[in-house]
Amino acid sequence: MVRARCCVNGLDAMGVALLASRHHHRGSPPPVPVPHGVPAGAPLGQSERLDIRQDCASSLADMTGRYVVRTYGCQMNEHDSERIAGLLEADGLVPADDEDDADVVVLNTCCIRENADNRLYGNLGHLKTWKDAREGRQIVVAGCLSQKDRDGVRNRAPQVDVVLGTHNVHRTAELLRQSRVSGPVTEILDAAVVDEHVLFPSALPVRRETSYAAWVTIQIGCDNNCAFCIVPAVRGEEISRPFDDVVDEVRRFAGEGVTEVTLLGQNVNSYGRDIQLAARRDGDTDARIRPLFADLLRAVGGIDGIRRVRFTSPHPKDMRTETFEAMADVAAVCDHLHYPLQSGSDQVLAAMHRGYTGERYLERLAEARRHIPDLAVSTDIIVGFPGETDRDFEQTLEVTAAAEFDYAYTFIFSPRPGTEAAAMESQFVDPAVAGERFERLRAVVERSALRRHEARVGRVEEVLVEGPSRKDPSVLAARTGQNKLVHFVPGRPLRAGSYALVEITRAAPHHLEGRFVEVTHEPSHRTRIPVAVL
Ligand code: SF4
Repeated sequence: MVRARCCVNGLDAMGVALLASRHHHRGSPPPVPVPHGVPAGAPLGQSERLDIRQDCASSLADMTGRYVVRTYGCQMNEHDSERIAGLLEADGLVPADDEDDADVVVLNTCCIRENADNRLYGNLGHLKTWKDAREGRQIVVAGCLSQKDRDGVRNRAPQVDVVLGTHNVHRTAELLRQSRVSGPVTEILDAAVVDEHVLFPSALPVRRETSYAAWVTIQIGCDNNCAFCIVPAVRGEEISRPFDDVVDEVRRFAGEGVTEVTLLGQNVNSYGRDIQLAARRDGDTDARIRPLFADLLRAVGGIDGIRRVRFTSPHPKDMRTETFEAMADVAAVCDHLHYPLQSGSDQVLAAMHRGYTGERYLERLAEARRHIPDLAVSTDIIVGFPGETDRDFEQTLEVTAAAEFDYAYTFIFSPRPGTEAAAMESQFVDPAVAGERFERLRAVVERSALRRHEARVGRVEEVLVEGPSRKDPSVLAARTGQNKLVHFVPGRPLRAGSYALVEITRAAPHHLEGRFVEVTHEPSHRTRIPVAVL
């Protein structure tokens, strides 16, 4: 098992400097100093890290006990949570069944969803009672909300032991140790650190919830400025992970029996733009600006053992023909595109700073379907963005109907503090009007979803088995390449991670039902065995 760096000094100098200033500010003991010979701002080398770990390991509290990680928000957060769990387990903790059984609760927060603040502080209120019930319990708050609220988290909830942000997930175990020795700690970095081992959560130890599928972070941050979105403020500017690192990680996963990978980023199809611009700045005049994401799809999809490649999320303004071509050419890349529309009104799209029009969106979608005729398309749509008129909403309905989505995540606008849209208060749409528009939009989406599901009936599809259905354990839940949920009764016991052919027999708006035909691939991943702590 990979051991995480496990002491306060296992970070780059920038992190130490920041930690030092915060300690000083709060009058807490200073951290262990940066070792000699490491220039400020420079990442530590591997051997230096090991030395430091050995030097101070004995001075820190033993890490034992059980933990729970509660995740809010998107897949990026879920992936960060896997890393947090991996770091804690590498440091000696074991997973708890639930909070009653736990010594450490980690809340990995998200500030994108409505009322995220209220929910977090409500949960922290309950956790105060949980913490008071047994000595030694600890609470950690990580993620976007802590990045945004910083010291505010512990000001409002002093029972919290550790507050960390989005740029220092790699420090979770270290900060937890530190808090056991010297009391509560808040550490928020303003920017991602330069060491790629800590920059990308994929490079940290992991406790994956499924052994046959994996998320792979290819990019962090976002260079866009959508008026409703807090991500650029809390995740920073776009930084692409080196191409070979991504490919190597997927190859390693394939060796472990992983067959499905999902490439993660806020704007995946601009992947590599920063790498190429940096190469040009450094004098590499041969570095042509080309869509590296398409190259990445081809490289990852060509790895032996990888049967499915998914990605989320692309931005319509950056969608390139080369990406569609790669999707069409590489059999492993799934016939599914999540393609966030947000609005069909050009006026609203401009106010959102989305960089495309409704017409342009549909043109791109038509091009995608020309390349990949059996493409399933999902989307995100916001109803009631500030200033949205009846006419604007009608245009959203028109584009939605024309797009014929397979499914959509639809939201009523609610302001996220710190965003441009939150300051457009004078233009907020009446909640009753927004609610009525939301229902009309949902009806349009459900019509196309059902139509597109009905078109699958009679087809034989290959599905990836996820496990027993929650409602009926005799039925299996599985996903098609188009990401459609299929329920079927297996002809024989099938492990999660198996692939099978299923004939689709019935369509509902949110799932399909099928008849088992045959197994096409038996999983080779090892079933997870709990790690014993010596
Ligand atoms: Fe947010 Fe827009 Fe960036 Fe997506 S593209 S993360 S919505 S700013």
